Amino acid sequence: MGERAIYDSHVHTRNSFDGRDSAEAICEAAIRAGLAGIAFTDHCDMHLGSRACLAVKEALWEEVLRARETFGPSLEIAMGLEIGEPHHDMALARELAGGPGMDFVIGSVHRVRGEDDFYVMDYDRPDIMDVLRKYYEELIELSSCDCFDVMGHINYPLRSMSDAQKARIDLSAFNELLCEALSSLARHGKGIEANSRCLKGGLGGILPSLEIMKMFKAAGGEIVTTGSDAHEAPSVGVGIPEAGALLKEAGFEEISFFKGRRPA
Ligand SMILES: [Zn+2]
Ligand SMILES: [Zn+2]
Repeated sequence: MGERAIYDSHVHTRNSFDGRDSAEAICEAAIRAGLAGIAFTDHCDMHLGSRACLAVKEALWEEVLRARETFGPSLEIAMGLEIGEPHHDMALARELAGGPGMDFVIGSVHRVRGEDDFYVMDYDRPDIMDVLRKYYEELIELSSCDCFDVMGHINYPLRSMSDAQKARIDLSAFNELLCEALSSLARHGKGIEANSRCLKGGLGGILPSLEIMKMFKAAGGEIVTTGSDAHEAPSVGVGIPEAGALLKEAGFEEISFFKGRRPA
């Protein structure tokens, strides 16, 4: 990959329940935005069950093959998935992450056992700190799973607080648990992403913060990617240069783009 090439490794198509556009429309937008490559990472959340998740994978794969024929050498197009809570159903997560054609898998925690997505969480409930603690405990649980490459949007509750609920809860009380998750990721040869979706939202920054990126570096982490988490074509590539700059500031010289589940 060229020194100045820019990659967006977290993009959703209409195959995600909350995505809007076709892979083709997104590729056109990516080329207009000057990206060298994108990874499609549609949602496969374990609570949706095997039939729904496998249907997403199949539909996306067909779109990726068609997009590669259309856009050829002008854009690298990686086939990926964002698996929500792989540790809740390891057999299904392995099936989704495996097979020929898979380039990249993001492992994310959007919800913890027994709870709904943090996006719709009531942050005023009296046991909110217990629920948030579970988020970090589940990050630790996820970190050693063998069916993903990069952990998605670490500190996701911050994003949902600022976007949906306007709550502001200081999460630094959980830094010890987070540090354990980051060390485990590093030990297992996995990476983190700099997610730029919140750059223009209520949070006004990249997830995770520079401090947490530095914690990952100090823990021996080596693999990092950049992703816009776009759910519509105009958002593809938005904030990727800022996300890359923050990773560089944290000491990461190389930003990876995965092919065949390997960082390049
Ligand atoms: Zn996500
Ligand atoms: Zn996403």
